Amino acid sequence: GDVVLGVDRLKFETLLERQKALHGARLDTDLGASALRELVRQYKALVLKETGKPFPEAPLQQLRMAIDAVFNSWYGQRAVEYRKIYGIPHTWGTAANVQAMVFGNTGDRSGTGVAFTRDPATGERRFYAEYLLNAQGEDVVAGIRTPHPIAKLKQQMPKVYRELERIYKKLERHFRDMQDIEFTIQDGTLYLLQTRTGKRTARAAIRIAVDMVREGLITKQEALLRVDPSQIDQLLHPMIDPKAKAQVIAKGLGSTGAAVGKVVFSPERAEEWSRRGEKVILVRHETSPEDVGGMHASEGILTATGGLTSHAAVVARGMGKCSVVGCGEIRIREQEGFFSVGDLVVREGNPIALNGNTGEVILGAVHLIKPEPDADFLTFLRWADTARTLGVRANADTPADAAQAVKFGAEGIGLCRTEHMFFGEGRIPHVRAMILARDEGARRKALEQLLPMQREDFLKIFQVMNGRPVTIRLLDPPLHEFLPKYHEVLQDLTRLRLTRGDPDAIRELETLFQRISELHEFNPMLGHRGCRLGITFPEIYEMQVQAIFEAACACKRQGKRVLPEVMIPLTGTRQELADLRALSVRTAEEVMRRERVRVRYLIGTMIEVPRAALVADQLAEESAFFSFGTNDLTQMTFGYSRDDAGKFLPRYVEKGILPGDPFASIDAEGVGQLVQMAKERGRKVRPDLKLGVCGEHGGDPRSIAFFHQVGLNYVSCSPYSIPVARLAAAQARLKEVKSQKSGVKSQE
Ligand code: PEP
Ligand code: MG
Repeated sequence: GDVVLGVDRLKFETLLERQKALHGARLDTDLGASALRELVRQYKALVLKETGKPFPEAPLQQLRMAIDAVFNSWYGQRAVEYRKIYGIPHTWGTAANVQAMVFGNTGDRSGTGVAFTRDPATGERRFYAEYLLNAQGEDVVAGIRTPHPIAKLKQQMPKVYRELERIYKKLERHFRDMQDIEFTIQDGTLYLLQTRTGKRTARAAIRIAVDMVREGLITKQEALLRVDPSQIDQLLHPMIDPKAKAQVIAKGLGSTGAAVGKVVFSPERAEEWSRRGEKVILVRHETSPEDVGGMHASEGILTATGGLTSHAAVVARGMGKCSVVGCGEIRIREQEGFFSVGDLVVREGNPIALNGNTGEVILGAVHLIKPEPDADFLTFLRWADTARTLGVRANADTPADAAQAVKFGAEGIGLCRTEHMFFGEGRIPHVRAMILARDEGARRKALEQLLPMQREDFLKIFQVMNGRPVTIRLLDPPLHEFLPKYHEVLQDLTRLRLTRGDPDAIRELETLFQRISELHEFNPMLGHRGCRLGITFPEIYEMQVQAIFEAACACKRQGKRVLPEVMIPLTGTRQELADLRALSVRTAEEVMRRERVRVRYLIGTMIEVPRAALVADQLAEESAFFSFGTNDLTQMTFGYSRDDAGKFLPRYVEKGILPGDPFASIDAEGVGQLVQMAKERGRKVRPDLKLGVCGEHGGDPRSIAFFHQVGLNYVSCSPYSIPVARLAAAQARLKEVKSQKSGVKSQE
């Protein structure tokens, strides 16, 4: 009635419940024959009323209709959604299997059960099954009666149990994977209804894969292909207990695990509350470098604006923290201390949870499951390393990040964003002074303050990385991320003037406001940043290169190996790169001469603007390596702002205009073509040109497969994504080998 004829199952359920109440029956099986007969009559009447046709009585007609229902289910909304999520082609179609009915509810010599051949939660090698006597189909999972653990069946029906044991072992050996089995016992005879590969947690997936290799059931290569790389994330970050009841109040773009904490609206509050032991979630319109301390003190970050490569998302990911960004449904009223979603008000101090996997914002605290990477996990990743050819580096901006990256298996640093190094305490004022300086003299003064801090950081990073390559990107601060907000300064100034505040303070604010107005940009992401800053204020890049090489020389003098790679951002023309390369070489050589130490180094560029990809042959003449900055490259190829795309991208994906968020997974057919083209043009001029990617795509399994295919040397991603990248790179290589082999076979 429900599946085939489309009558709401609740209506059947209501009739059943009424009948049970009438006869004082607790369980379905308590209903006697006459009550069941009456129920059948009511069901038939319901079908007639709802469909206008009598219930079909001919068995063959029933069978035909049931088969049709199976095929039609392929087009059901849930099935379509599922295929979209898991990338299953709609053209595959489905199959129907017809088998004789057996009954588990004919009495106490009958029953039904479900079983996993290994524990689906932990992966432990034990038969994990439940059953009920005198029960049918859904009864075991419906939760009305509590099923028995399978050990009890051993006592109740030892012969059936032994047979079940023999069969489950045989099935697992045959399919060479953990099976999810459904069985029925009819009057003492065991029937297997179905078997399929069982779903499992990430922890179980790895344990089962590693165990099966040890048992000689599968090869290491098969084991590596069995674990979904995006599942690995579960082992590094907490996740929301799937059993938890969650009241979802809003949805944005999520990353990295899950978090629970009390709502705070300012970074200061976050730090203050966390110092007294509270767990907090920082809720902001967007974040800026000034918020970094508060972000660090928080469990997770929720913002109303921004996309997956916005400041909030990138910095949170680097810290291994959960974030939900671009959550346009929330209205933040920081001054009044609450945010709202429709009529719902969430005040400062109220607990909320964030689910980075789904982007959901949940009201109240929910239980989180903490991960525990174990020895199997490390073994598994070592196997991945032997299988892959693509290198894996880390995006790391601080010595602490670098140490974390090495722990996770990074082979180098692919991107050290030097502007992120200025997020540290006491540094932002100097950066601001540098940006706000009216002339070179003032700027050099600010730079003098920054030089020792940079040198110190670089030295520590080199020490941690111990001879592994470290790509340091010269300053690329989108100015709006570092300056006080234009409207906020204007507001403060107006308030001071209206209240006839301190004249000195007014004068100071006026100067600041004037400078900010001069620097104000309509499109900061397309503005005065990257190498454009280096061209107009060469002293900034000089200071940075000096700091890099003084640190490198100091490191080498301590007897440690060091391999700096200076990277010039946002290049679009050959002359930009040539000028800044010359500046870098000159400064580096000067330092090494002065220090009487020589270190090996490389100078290269990022490929972030489409023009750079188009003239890659010219750039390769000036560059020992390219690193694809696919965040900006995606932004500029699509013309979608990284910071505002959250406003429309989800709708694009919902409507099927785009297959997914191109900032999360590389748009292979568009942006990918530029990557391919830059590779070909660059390598033509310089065959040993080193190629990597350091946009957020470097941690995304689908994108990693693409970069492997293009033939890049390495991907670089946040430290916490490194295990995912190691596995994804191994899988990309294994799949390639497999398809090459099958290609050779088909030619033969
Ligand atoms: C990029 O654009 O991909 C990149 C890595 O640089 P950023 O994200 O710092 O702009
Ligand atoms: Mg960039």
